[in-house]
Amino acid sequence: MSDPHELTVLNPATEETVATVPAASAEDVGAAVVRAVRAQTRWAALAPADRARLLRRFADTVDAHLEELAQLEVREAGHTVGNARWEAGNARDLLLYAAGGAERLLGAQIPAPGGFNVTFHEPLGVVGVIAPWNFPMPIAAWGSFPALAAGNAVVLKPAETTPLTALRLAELALDAGLPEHVFQVLPGHGHIAGRALVDHPDVAKIVFTGSTTTGREVMERCARLVKPVTLELGGKSPNVVFADADLEAALDPFSFLDNSGQDCCARTRVLVQEPVFEEAREFLADALAAVVVGDPADGKTQMGPLISRQQLDRVRSYVPEDAPALRGTAPEGPGFWFPPTVLTGERPDGRAAREEIFGPVAVLLPFADEADAVRLANDTPYGLSGSVFTRDLGRALRVSRAVRAGNLSVNSHSSVRYWTPFGGFKQSGLGRELGPDALTAFTETKNVFISTEGPAQ
Ligand code: NAD
Repeated sequence: MSDPHELTVLNPATEETVATVPAASAEDVGAAVVRAVRAQTRWAALAPADRARLLRRFADTVDAHLEELAQLEVREAGHTVGNARWEAGNARDLLLYAAGGAERLLGAQIPAPGGFNVTFHEPLGVVGVIAPWNFPMPIAAWGSFPALAAGNAVVLKPAETTPLTALRLAELALDAGLPEHVFQVLPGHGHIAGRALVDHPDVAKIVFTGSTTTGREVMERCARLVKPVTLELGGKSPNVVFADADLEAALDPFSFLDNSGQDCCARTRVLVQEPVFEEAREFLADALAAVVVGDPADGKTQMGPLISRQQLDRVRSYVPEDAPALRGTAPEGPGFWFPPTVLTGERPDGRAAREEIFGPVAVLLPFADEADAVRLANDTPYGLSGSVFTRDLGRALRVSRAVRAGNLSVNSHSSVRYWTPFGGFKQSGLGRELGPDALTAFTETKNVFISTEGPAQ
């Protein structure tokens, strides 16, 4: 049973304790929201250029501490150091991008008889952000920084296992000159601090990233208060590989192994057209064997451990010892290690082919033709991302339009850019983050009509 008052942060590569952190109670969350409400009024009253300047200074401060933040992420989350540097850089870049938006929150002027009519994007007030452990810095940033730029205060609850980089970001915000209580980070348990944030009547919106099960509960609780919610949930994304594709690019194993597969966009259903299926299997067998799994602090390491013992047990439950599979290697001894794995005997309706495993495990499935590929790609309750590999441009466009998912890439496995919209169809979520409209998701549109009629004669 975990301690309700304290969080223990373990290094997932060694199982050594990195830190213990107080866990916020429901009362702590309530007090933080009261402080945030006061701070938000002053923050929203700043000239947009001043808010932007402070956020740019925050970006510079993050940049000056990029290596420290990256090393902290290696220790608390087991991310490879190369990934962790990218993640800290993503937080910095999003600050700069969002800062530019503060001065560009443009409304509309709409023709109306007898006067003129304008719209304003008013900040919501206090935004609650609930982040998961798989990408602690980027996901905290995506929920928080556009909200700040739009004039909101933010209370962020990081995941139980990964509070350290979020806490450091809050300190850096103060160092950069952001007013106190505009960006607060409260580590805590989901069912205590997370729920308190969701249920608080003065929290105007919740941005939740995590599992579909918890996301559903968050949405139900928000419904009671008619509170808007953005949900970024699970995925089981397809990688559709046609026979004419560049197989080496299409079958890049890091499309499902990056971050040890703990990635909601991981392409964990590898769908390969029948004529090249055997070739694909052989290619993947060699590719998995070559993956360097080990100490995430070593720059040569390509894949680190899983986040926790619990996650390791969960991943193991999908891969019985005798399951037909291609397997790489992983270290023995302390740490939450699981080898890169591709299941080759799974049916499309099997558990491993349908559920989000959130580990370095993909399933390999054959398809016959384009219609079959689209049917298989869509045969999932999820719809977050996916890839299509073919040299036929018309087919690439048809298939990427037919797949019911929010983020598709053609002849590429990329999903996330801070300047393009990100989010899921179906049970992968609700709403979008990032991109040109990131700030408006944290505003209410207000319409004001101004009469130009003179006084009655
Ligand atoms: P989770 O959904 O339980 O936790 C995500 C966040 O929500 C954490 O900060 C947690 O403290 C908080 N939370 C938990 N219960 C809450 C509640 N009742 N009210 C408010 N907040 C609450 O995810 P998890 O248990 O850490 O991971 C379980 C599975 O979820 C993973 O195996 C994976 O399949 C999936 N997952 C998906 C993503 C994603 O980005 N899509 C991220 C993390 C986990």
